[in-house]
Amino acid sequence: MTNDQTAVPAPLDPDADPTDGALSEELFARARRVIPSGVNSPVRAFGSVGGTPPFIDSAAGALLRDVDGREYVDLVGSWGPMILGHANSLVVDAVREAAGRGLSFGAPQPGEVTLAEEVISRIGPVESLRLVNSGTEATMSALRVARAATGRDVIVKFAGCYHGHVDALLAEAGSGVATFAMPGSAGVTASTARDTVVVPYGDRAAIRALFAERGHEIAAVITEAAPANMGVVPPSGGERGDGVGFNRFLAETAHAAGALLITDEVLTGFRASREGYYGIDGAVSGDGAWAPDLMTFGKVIGGGLPVGAFGGRADLMALLAPGGPVYQAGTLSGNPLATAAGLATFAQLDEHAYKAIGRASSTLQQLVADALTAAGVPHVVQTAGTLFSVFFRDAPVRTYADAKAQDTGAFARFFHAMLDAGVYLPPSAFEAWFVSTAHDDETLDRIAEALPGAAKAAAQG
Ligand SMILES: *Cc1c(COP(=O)(O)O)cnc(C)c1O
Repeated sequence: MTNDQTAVPAPLDPDADPTDGALSEELFARARRVIPSGVNSPVRAFGSVGGTPPFIDSAAGALLRDVDGREYVDLVGSWGPMILGHANSLVVDAVREAAGRGLSFGAPQPGEVTLAEEVISRIGPVESLRLVNSGTEATMSALRVARAATGRDVIVKFAGCYHGHVDALLAEAGSGVATFAMPGSAGVTASTARDTVVVPYGDRAAIRALFAERGHEIAAVITEAAPANMGVVPPSGGERGDGVGFNRFLAETAHAAGALLITDEVLTGFRASREGYYGIDGAVSGDGAWAPDLMTFGKVIGGGLPVGAFGGRADLMALLAPGGPVYQAGTLSGNPLATAAGLATFAQLDEHAYKAIGRASSTLQQLVADALTAAGVPHVVQTAGTLFSVFFRDAPVRTYADAKAQDTGAFARFFHAMLDAGVYLPPSAFEAWFVSTAHDDETLDRIAEALPGAAKAAAQG
């Protein structure tokens, strides 16, 4: 490999004179003139925490560097995909190699097959898989298959669960809309909204009542396998219910009524564990066995390139065109660069990698809890496998209403103090914090140094 091919940016020049955010300010001003609110995805605008988002120039491992020369430990990881850290050399090499052989063919290519085989080998309920370009496309397409398979229209979703910006799924959709206190989205037709029923997360009585009344109209229940877009709110494993975990309860209730269960693992897939959240609460055999009918993936599966996927029972997936009547397509679906990035990521996601991620995650959880406790800031840390988030309130969060009851002002103060100290947190109190295999001890030390000051800032309300 020659010098100009190196994946890792040169180390920050210690004598460089950081421009104090001036270049990011200038870019944000230009951006707002030509891009709505200056961003291509709402949470990036820093609306709920205030201030100017740093414009990122480059990233390597656990670090981000902005155009002003400021360096941050990254706890966003592009919202999940960068599970091996940024510019992972094997992933970058794979993409470079693929790019040399052509950027897009619009015809079948080998990487699509290998990626589908990899997912199917990890996730029991997935017998057949189709690749798309985003998580949004994955959930949208899964709903279409469910409606076609059942001949029914109604979709049931949970308040606080986010499934991408699919019209039918934007009601009470968690982080993005929660951050901006929007009830849903304008521009969604009344008839679309009518076919979506929103239930409080974890509310078994409400699900039972809904199925008793309208079971024959329901095509599918869709749920995040473990909600992580209102902060992390794991499903009950049975201890608070009737001895049956919430996801299994949903599968059994839906199936009894001839409806389907779609578990959305766009965020949890290949992150919460090697087999996603299904590997935590679903991968059992015998009495407790249950399975979703369809599952959706994204984020990690593309290694940082735009990829989503949906899959599940072979008989359902066989409904897709051209073999079946459900139309679904994509000019760039199964793109060779994207599958190369995904495959090079999967190749490194072994038990060792998940152990490293789990270790970094628990260490960080403890550091944050200690700092907030020492400063007297009410908080709860919640987990789903290696995923976690921090709520700025003193009681456990089980529902979207609980999540919204946190002190977002305290979070904003905490966020800015961390940013000033060189730690880039998700700019919203309703998001998971993302670690990677690149979050080593040195990185965690940098976060540990930033925490006490930020916790004090949070306490000064
Ligand atoms: C991110 C996310 C989506 C949407 O994926 P995009 O690639 O942003 O369209 C869907 N579902 C869940 C659970 C997500 O976290």
